[in-house]
Amino acid sequence: MSFNSARSIRQWRQIWPESLNLLLESFTAAQGETKGIKDFISVLMLYDEHPAGEVEAAADLALENNIRASDGVLHILIYANDTGAVIVPYEARDIAGIERKPEGIEAFHHGRRHRGSSTPGQGAGIGYDEFLLELTAFELRARGENRLNRRIREAKFPLMKPLETFDLNAVPDLDIRLFRELAGCGYIQERKNIIFLGRSGTGKTHMAAALGAEACKNNYRTRFVTCCGLANELIEAREERQSRRLLQRYSRYDLLILDEPGYVPFSREGSELLFQVLAERHEKGSIIITANPGFADWTQVFGDPVITAALLDRLTHKARIINCTWESYRLKQSLKRK
Ligand code: ADP
Ligand code: MG
Repeated sequence: MSFNSARSIRQWRQIWPESLNLLLESFTAAQGETKGIKDFISVLMLYDEHPAGEVEAAADLALENNIRASDGVLHILIYANDTGAVIVPYEARDIAGIERKPEGIEAFHHGRRHRGSSTPGQGAGIGYDEFLLELTAFELRARGENRLNRRIREAKFPLMKPLETFDLNAVPDLDIRLFRELAGCGYIQERKNIIFLGRSGTGKTHMAAALGAEACKNNYRTRFVTCCGLANELIEAREERQSRRLLQRYSRYDLLILDEPGYVPFSREGSELLFQVLAERHEKGSIIITANPGFADWTQVFGDPVITAALLDRLTHKARIINCTWESYRLKQSLKRK
């Protein structure tokens, strides 16, 4: 379940659990109505960054401990994430009805069925003004734009290459229907991978970054990193005994773009750590990988044939493979200029 600010607060109240009503009540009691509601909205924003179950478990803990501000909820959430501790909800709640991104009216009703009775205005009998909530929702829409910027910043694209800048006429052999479909991000929802294969200059990195930008627009947590950069980051983290934390961070992205395993062989340590990232993400999140050498050469890059085979097995399982068979765009451009 993601906190979709386009949805009105009133609709939202129908699918959030009863404990959030109690939290809202305790916030307004402690902070006054206006401040309390605003602060409560900050808790709702946490749904964008964290799984629904974790937010709700943190809200439960806050209630239990009489913590009456969003800072406290955030603290609980981050503390739990950092230590790798799992917060167990106090009551075994049925969260099957919650999806990260409920789609349309169907998911909405689905959520309600699982949530039971709470309908707007009936909450826990809280005397707050619906008008104030709508006002705050307005404020949130403005925040939505900031969120896109944040997603893009977090993704760390080397260069902004939005979809519009990719010239489809230059690549007649590309399956345009498939590429458009991928731009719709359905593969992220299905946790499928995409592999761009082809020679240098065919636009693999450009396409991967363009799909990444689309993912950001759809509010998916995205990260772009070169294989080499990631391997180095992992080795560094291991030296600082931060491996667990880094692996967890990488398992939380909805989309990880791994650019170019390249030509430089990894150290055994590097490939083992990279393998762990892929293993943690397996079936939890999507990966886009751009690669130059044919699959057969990957053993050279990753060293150990057993690790390579296992890695490829994970990557290619459920993957869409796009073969960039056309000639280099760069080459064509420079020939044109002559
Ligand atoms: P690869 O990763 O396959 O080596 P790149 O994505 O780095 O190729 O592309 C090389 C250069 O050509 C980049 O500057 C890229 O923006 C540009 N380019 C490649 N294909 C296209 C295209 N179809 N339309 C516009 N620019 C392209
Ligand atoms: Mg490239």
